[in-house]
Amino acid sequence: MAASLQIAGIRKVFGKGDKAVEVLKKIEIDVAPGEFLILVGPSGCGKSTLLNIIAGLEEPSEGELRIAGKNVVGVAPAQRDIAMVFQSYALYPTMSVADNIGFALEMRKVPLEQRKKRIAEVAAMLQIEHLLDRRPAQLSGGQRQRVAMGRALARDPQLFLFDEPLSNLDAKLRVEMRAEIKRLHQVSGITSVYVTHDQIEAMTLGSRIAVMKDGILQQIGTPDDIYSRPANTYVASFIGSPT
Ligand code: ADP
Ligand code: MG
Repeated sequence: MAASLQIAGIRKVFGKGDKAVEVLKKIEIDVAPGEFLILVGPSGCGKSTLLNIIAGLEEPSEGELRIAGKNVVGVAPAQRDIAMVFQSYALYPTMSVADNIGFALEMRKVPLEQRKKRIAEVAAMLQIEHLLDRRPAQLSGGQRQRVAMGRALARDPQLFLFDEPLSNLDAKLRVEMRAEIKRLHQVSGITSVYVTHDQIEAMTLGSRIAVMKDGILQQIGTPDDIYSRPANTYVASFIGSPT
């Protein structure tokens, strides 16, 4: 069952005293169960910091974070049941694709038969059944990205976080992988937050888009809302609205 995510009054300050910088300013976002939310904004606006706070890699200075209704601030990352995909996807080079996907399950001492079943399910979702015996060096960039997503999916997470996963790929592959990620979301139904600085990616991938600048949420809405009814001149110029 897909989980909801509530980001409630999240603030983050880095540094102390006169060196303190407020990187996130009271962010409020409700993500519905099964939703695919895009978080878009220029480099340095606080996107990764917000994702890291959701994942538990950073603690917020203030605010609450609820996954499936349960406040997770202070809960260890491993207990949050979250998968994250980054632009640099370090697969284990000496392991087969199947073992890369199954590694997290092995760490959790999931029995072999159950592990094999889950690896097969995930491989089917990603359409990489034919690659399971290969090593990472024998894969293309797009295939590697798929395996990285498979590895993240294997644990059947409550939440899927993407931090600019396609920014190292060439333009053609990027378009292909966008479609792939969309399809994967449709078949898995996992609540997802996808971070990008790329306006086109945001407008084509998401059903709802949150636009951020300087740690402040500027607007949240459908691509049509954002494009046709920008909340302010910043959003209009960033998205390239006709008005
Ligand atoms: P984005 O992902 O949108 O590019 P980040 O969340 O990485 O932005 O960074 C937002 C701001 O916070 C930047 O100004 C960055 O320099 C600062 N920042 C990020 N992490 C730290 C940290 N650990 N210590 C101090 N400042 C940080
Ligand atoms: Mg970032």
